[in-house]
Amino acid sequence: MSAFVSEFMAELKAKNPGEPEFHQAVQEVVESLEPVLQKSPEFRKAKILERMAEPERVILFRVPWVDDKGEMQLNKGYRVEMNSAIGPYKGGMRFHPSVYLGLLKFLAFEQTLKNSLTTLPMGGGKGGSNFDPKGKSDGEVMRFCQSLMTELCRHIGDRTDIPAGDIGVGGREIGFMFGQYKRIRNEFVGVLTGKGIEFGGSLIRPEATGYGAVYFAAEMLSTRDQTLDGKTCLVSGSGNVSQYAIEKILDLGGKPVTCSDSGGYIYDEAGFDRDKLAFLLELKNVKRGRIKEYADKYSSAVYTPVDSGKDYNPLWNHKADCAFPSAVQNEINAKDAQNLLDNGVYVVSEGANMPTVPDGVNLFVEKKILYGPGKAANAGGVATSGLEQSQNSLRLSWTREEVDARLHGIMKSIHKQCVDAAAAYGVQGNYVAGANIAGFLKVANAMMAQGVV
Ligand code: NAP
Repeated sequence: MSAFVSEFMAELKAKNPGEPEFHQAVQEVVESLEPVLQKSPEFRKAKILERMAEPERVILFRVPWVDDKGEMQLNKGYRVEMNSAIGPYKGGMRFHPSVYLGLLKFLAFEQTLKNSLTTLPMGGGKGGSNFDPKGKSDGEVMRFCQSLMTELCRHIGDRTDIPAGDIGVGGREIGFMFGQYKRIRNEFVGVLTGKGIEFGGSLIRPEATGYGAVYFAAEMLSTRDQTLDGKTCLVSGSGNVSQYAIEKILDLGGKPVTCSDSGGYIYDEAGFDRDKLAFLLELKNVKRGRIKEYADKYSSAVYTPVDSGKDYNPLWNHKADCAFPSAVQNEINAKDAQNLLDNGVYVVSEGANMPTVPDGVNLFVEKKILYGPGKAANAGGVATSGLEQSQNSLRLSWTREEVDARLHGIMKSIHKQCVDAAAAYGVQGNYVAGANIAGFLKVANAMMAQGVV
């Protein structure tokens, strides 16, 4: 580590103690940006990086609600408004017991660079709660969402901050939050994205992150004159991103063989087909069941429960060509990364945010596999949220084909920006550096132009 990076990180850690995910996300970016800061010392003088790592605003509030037994429950609510240099804050809400300020700062920091790559005018933000929707009734989820929005509605707006979904926040939760915002503010505006189609949502938004990660993989493969056709693919998670990654892999002729939840994973050697995918969607989105039930239904699949005694995840230890980690941060440790390489995987396109630990990232970059980091590969979701905002402003709805074509075009553009930025700074083929540099430059130039704010 250079003296600059270690000094920068020492100061960041001292100012933001106990936030390891935030430190990890910033360190990766700072390391990539060294050549940029050397070439453009004005960014250092103006402390652009220091300012980007400090949220413009953090909102922290209590969320009281009453459960089905009539008992009082209390959760924490957060919104991190990270950077508005290139547009209003934009980023998802995460409902999961692991949510705390440091996790949301990592996600909001990544989001700023990701949103910059999308070519759309969106700043970076992220929010959520330590509320766990798992096992809660629809009524409980609704009361929680209403209580959260009762406070949040005074801080967000269609020109200020536009939240969307993330882990634990899907169409149901967005609908409840939108309903409460509209009721309190007495205005029907595009203040949230990921809305239902009947009330301002965009076609393809639910599919966009998963589709985008697969489009990004296809772009990376095209640099080697290859396609996804016939490729065996490992997918983790079984939520929104995973479901539509599986669908697009099937569309492009690939063979998805795994998916998971926090209880375990299934390996289906025969691969998913459309019927199995329909079963998965029903299981996860309607019945809200566990992935184990997939193996109960299909004899071609083997279920393996999580074994916390293992120092690796067996999902990443199957013969394959491509991997689409689409569950959670740091789900690929260094041993998993080595297992992936040993099993022949040479394409990793991250649907999740920061799913690979730094040693795993270094291994992928060193071995020169086609490795698309989350902030580039999963940007299709927020990009299509941007398209939802455009449609809301225009009071028009585009067709499925039109939105999909725009999403595809944006993913190609993100891929090109990564390739070009990496080449311009002498690190050809390094998508990590390319994404960090391209994402940073747009935000940094806008911050320079706007003065000390
Ligand atoms: P989701 O629909 O809630 O699904 C999350 C999936 O990951 C579930 O299968 C969940 O299993 C699993 N999971 C969560 N925590 C886990 C843990 N600690 N260990 C193992 N599995 C775990 O969420 P999502 O929207 O698909 O998001 C998945 C990832 O994509 C996240 O990293 C998110 O930040 C990223 N992302 C999402 C979007 C988007 O548009 N939704 C956009 C960009 C990036 P359980 O049900 O058992 O918890």
